Amino acid sequence: MSELKKLLGLDLSGLEAVAAEAGLRRFAAGQMAAWLYKRGATDIDAMTDLPKSARAWLRDNGYTIGREAPIAEARSTDGTVKYLFTGVAGRDVEAVYIPDRDRATLCISSQAGCKMNCRFCMTGQGGWQGDLDAGAIINQVLSIPESDTLTNIVFMGMGEPADNIDAVMRAVDILTAPWGMAWSPRRITVSTIGKQPGLDILLNNSQVHIAVSLHSPFADERLSIMPVQRAFPMSDILATLRQHDFAHQRRLSIEYTMFEGLNDDARHAHALARLLKGTDARVNLIRFHRTPGFEGQPSSQRAMEYFRDILNEAGIIATIRASRGEDIMAACGMLSGNKNTI
Ligand code: SF4
Repeated sequence: MSELKKLLGLDLSGLEAVAAEAGLRRFAAGQMAAWLYKRGATDIDAMTDLPKSARAWLRDNGYTIGREAPIAEARSTDGTVKYLFTGVAGRDVEAVYIPDRDRATLCISSQAGCKMNCRFCMTGQGGWQGDLDAGAIINQVLSIPESDTLTNIVFMGMGEPADNIDAVMRAVDILTAPWGMAWSPRRITVSTIGKQPGLDILLNNSQVHIAVSLHSPFADERLSIMPVQRAFPMSDILATLRQHDFAHQRRLSIEYTMFEGLNDDARHAHALARLLKGTDARVNLIRFHRTPGFEGQPSSQRAMEYFRDILNEAGIIATIRASRGEDIMAACGMLSGNKNTI
């Protein structure tokens, strides 16, 4: 039989094309979407409101649901769970489930690896092996045991979402559309280093919250840890962000990983406050988690609090993000897709 064709990851128009091919009426696309995205079907035969003959046709013509269970998991003492899924070209991908009082967040991956090469990040240190399609992105949300308990989704796992923007936008559409999973976009955050045109597409064609990784207010210092600064300078990113409203419906967060002696003193804090003035951005301060391929060290708690206070006094809302899952290599910057870390 030829290669299997996944239904998971198709949007309504894609499902309408399949329905037409199968000789079904157009509304069958909505029925398939409900089975895929609301009712959790894992097998074509579960779609019992499609005629038996149509289900047989789908199977005989190589269609499959496309759901795949995690292949491994690791549990942190703090309740965080890291799931490993089959990825692309031998590089597996990880999703991280983070329960926290009345919230349950899933951090999902959009690529097997990453081309952006941020020096402090284990995903980037392993290079890029391929893009996930929308089905593989949505599968992470649907196929973990805690799927029904999720309250928030963040695209902050492996990969740069703006570098795989078509699949990410399709996944966002499936997550938020009434025919899909009908999530509010206010419960979804996409994190990016600001790659264009993906950033523009996210800003103009979705309502999800945006998180942008800066990590330094100084161009030369940002370049030293984020080579993408050359192609996508933060001055351009901020000029783009300033054209959008983040005071009302959607939120803009600035991700700032803190390295001892590199970007964590008062000079950096004041410069960051000046840079963000008038943007309505909030700042997430993230403690650096040591990775084997980078010599930097984490900032002390005291330095992080001092930095936060300077930002707050300058009128920028800044918080120190709680570190989760470090003992299972699931914290920020530690995802590698490597079975040995499970
Ligand atoms: S921090 Fe994000 S953009 Fe940078 S290499 Fe890692 S996954 Fe890619």
